[in-house]
Amino acid sequence: MSGQPKNTGFSAKDPDSPSGFSFWESKHWVPTQDAVVVGAGIVGMNAALALRKRHPSWTISIVDRAPIGSASTRNAGFACFGSPSELLDDWKQMGPDATLAMVEMRWKGLLALRDTWGDKAIAYRACGAVEAFTDPDLHAEAKDFLPVLNQQLAPIMGREVFAETTANQSGLRELCGSISSPLEGDVDTARMIASMRSALAPAGIQWLAGMSIESVEAAPEGWSLATPHGVLNASRVFLATNALASDLVPVDVGPVPNMVLVSQPLPELRLTSTVHHDRGYVYAREVDGRILIGGGRQWDCQDPGESEERLVAWAQRHIQGAEAFATAHRWTGQLGVGSMRLPIVQEVKPGLYVGVRLGGMGVAIGTHIGQSMAGLA
Ligand SMILES: Cc1cc2nc3c(=O)[nH]c(=O)nc-3n(C[C@H](O)[C@H](O)[C@H](O)COP(=O)(O)OP(=O)(O)OC[C@H]3O[C@@H](n4cnc5c(N)ncnc54)[C@H](O)[C@@H]3O)c2cc1C
Repeated sequence: MSGQPKNTGFSAKDPDSPSGFSFWESKHWVPTQDAVVVGAGIVGMNAALALRKRHPSWTISIVDRAPIGSASTRNAGFACFGSPSELLDDWKQMGPDATLAMVEMRWKGLLALRDTWGDKAIAYRACGAVEAFTDPDLHAEAKDFLPVLNQQLAPIMGREVFAETTANQSGLRELCGSISSPLEGDVDTARMIASMRSALAPAGIQWLAGMSIESVEAAPEGWSLATPHGVLNASRVFLATNALASDLVPVDVGPVPNMVLVSQPLPELRLTSTVHHDRGYVYAREVDGRILIGGGRQWDCQDPGESEERLVAWAQRHIQGAEAFATAHRWTGQLGVGSMRLPIVQEVKPGLYVGVRLGGMGVAIGTHIGQSMAGLA
């Protein structure tokens, strides 16, 4: 109406509208929910879907502040459980039991991902993986470790997991050694996430995109979640906010940036498996006739330009057919990392749950972590 101020926002402090939402919005979209899942990544979507299976009559919403996505849409699509030098590092830091438990979680997580979504839907390729060594000492140490590792992993995976190979077999070059595993693979990240998203609406799960949760407070009948648009109320809240979880609850996880590059099409490329290098800190794979390469956190470069240069140089030197690598796509995503590698799945207060700290393994364990968090309720 002319002369009236325009409604520029749904202020939660508006005395005529205590929740901040309109009558219609409150009635149809944001009445008090049985469950609100915050974060629509791999963990959040799998948690919401698992809740639906367990509680067919619950009202369930999934809320995310991002217009497109986060780590779940920005990752490299490795379906992996750890390379030999990475597991050797874990073995030294966490001990054998915790390392084996972590690998088992990743392996079972991969099986859960493939079983839940289907290989075709997520474009899973059982391409195997190779660890590329350029440091003779690290290679020697990993080789010595292999018999023990294989012996311990065989009961979990039902076969020998790692074997020495030659670099030429793997489409790599200028290495001092390589160790392969037939059990890893890769996925098309976008297809994986699209499959998960397309399951939400048919399951009656409402997806509220572009809504940032600013705080989560105890309320008489559960929890109230402040957003810039109004207040959401829920009997139970599931936080699947990955690297940013400590903005909402005290939890040992924070963001660590990770860079990914994709080259132009490279017609001479012969890379058939995924590649790990230097304890998993550098990773590479083929995608649509191009090389995707990422990581490089261990170099501790202050300047992202330097990280990019080193990743490009690595691809040009060590991947057959990638000598002319030029960056065609570049992006950065945030890993959720804490003082320990294991994920956190717990009820932090009655009716308030977290499923976070997946590090660089969310493709493998995200489905399982989401389902486990839902199982806590
Ligand atoms: C560059 C990169 C490469 C990777 N490569 C691989 C790989 O090859 N293989 C592998 O297994 N893993 C990989 N990972 C890790 C994997 O992507 C993550 O572990 C996984 O996606 C985490 O899923 P998530 O659901 O926990 O988090 P996310 O996908 O980050 O989802 C969390 C969501 O919460 C939302 N959110 C956060 N705070 C709020 C708030 N206050 N209000 C509302 N919404 C909020 C965010 O917008 C986000 O969408 C990689 C990660 C990165 C960054």
